[in-house]
Amino acid sequence: MCGILGLLDLNQPVATDLYRGGLALQHRGQDGAGLITFDERFHRHTGLGLLNEIFRFQNLEKFPGSLGLVQLRYATAGEGSVEEVQPFTLTFPQGLALVHNGNLTNDPALRKLLGQRGYRRVNSLSDSETLLHVFADALTRNRALELTGLPVPIQRSSDNEDLFEAARMTMMTCQGAYSVVMLVADRGLLAFRDPHGIRPLCLGTAPGRFAFASESVALDVIGLELERDLQPGEAVFVDMEGKLHCRQLINPKPAHCVFEYIYLARPESVVDGHSVSEVRERLGQCLAKRCTRRQEIDVVLDVPSSAEDAAITFASASDLPYRKGIRKNPYSQRSFIAANQALRAGMVGTKFLFEKRVITGKRLAVIDDSIVRGTTARRLVESLRKQGAYQVFFFSASPPVRYPCVYGIDMAVSSQLAASQRTAEQMAQDIGVEHLQYQSQADMESCLPGLPLCTACFSGEYPTDVNEEELAHIGEARAKVSV
Ligand code: SF4
Repeated sequence: MCGILGLLDLNQPVATDLYRGGLALQHRGQDGAGLITFDERFHRHTGLGLLNEIFRFQNLEKFPGSLGLVQLRYATAGEGSVEEVQPFTLTFPQGLALVHNGNLTNDPALRKLLGQRGYRRVNSLSDSETLLHVFADALTRNRALELTGLPVPIQRSSDNEDLFEAARMTMMTCQGAYSVVMLVADRGLLAFRDPHGIRPLCLGTAPGRFAFASESVALDVIGLELERDLQPGEAVFVDMEGKLHCRQLINPKPAHCVFEYIYLARPESVVDGHSVSEVRERLGQCLAKRCTRRQEIDVVLDVPSSAEDAAITFASASDLPYRKGIRKNPYSQRSFIAANQALRAGMVGTKFLFEKRVITGKRLAVIDDSIVRGTTARRLVESLRKQGAYQVFFFSASPPVRYPCVYGIDMAVSSQLAASQRTAEQMAQDIGVEHLQYQSQADMESCLPGLPLCTACFSGEYPTDVNEEELAHIGEARAKVSV
């Protein structure tokens, strides 16, 4: 999924705030991180691991400049190497740096197309680098004469139409999910969102300061106000004088990822006009409304931490006590976004700490945000039994995940999705619980009234055209990361 943040500050260097805002987005990607600033030239550093393992506060003065980007990488394509960590840069045309959240479903076709032109090579397996080349190619085409080597004066559009036109051509060419922030050397920050607005991207402002971020929580941390979300198919450019230029480049067909609200985003964030924690509270209430086993439950627990809000409202709507029986080890990373199954299984074993006095001899309602591979649920239920749980009733705040996600979430291989070939009863047996209740699709959608959603991993209805070949390619790409 990735976390991205771009910042322009008219009064001071941006590196420290990029770092602080990046820490607030760490939950979106733990495979690697990269930071770039610009002051006459690019200052870039990337690495594998967490942001605070790669950068130190005290070293940030090595990144001068009032324009910059940071990215927290969550690898769903490529080989997981440091060469694939963003930001990607190109020195021609103009000087461009890019951070991207999402996944291009037509990446192989785009690489081929760029290769056929004969003057561009995508050097990594990352689709984000492809996206940068597509944009650069579009921007260059307006200046095709320069490629002849003749001394043609560079025509810089005073109203930034060249950037908007390049973004529009990128949207016409790229398929899939892409929320993008680009640093355009000497000119400013450009942000755009695919015509479906699958991944989030918002604009924040403060006097003399402008930011584009995956989630509003990053804006809060660095003292900017959430202005608004970018519209699907819209581009926004902020120039070096702090003027905002907005263009709707392509007809929007909104389909916002529902999984952002269920699991991915921080509860403090507001995404596309909806408070994430409030949506989770509603999910808990809907689960309680359909629960037929209320009389058999002694206590409600959440699987930390994205199910916490749902568990609290489930308990209050059911008139049951909510307790912290499972706590998250604060030094453990998010197991869902670990790169492979072996890592995930190992991490689940160290991720949770248990409060025996809350668990022993009790009939537990355990609320989780979702069941994807079943890894967490299986290990967790085993541990609860070891702690003396009498019975375990499991509730998933989302419907069964049955279809792969091709838009940048690590659910790209059908065979790894626990519910893809099992009924709720079979899943209950598989994870070892007395009873399993999923959220219904209609109830889930009712928690986000008026918001057009992508629900493809639950319903199989993809907002973009996805053919079998692309599905297979994305599955293979994911398998490479997981090796
Ligand atoms: S398929 Fe699921 S995880 Fe992927 S974008 Fe759609 S709702 Fe989100």
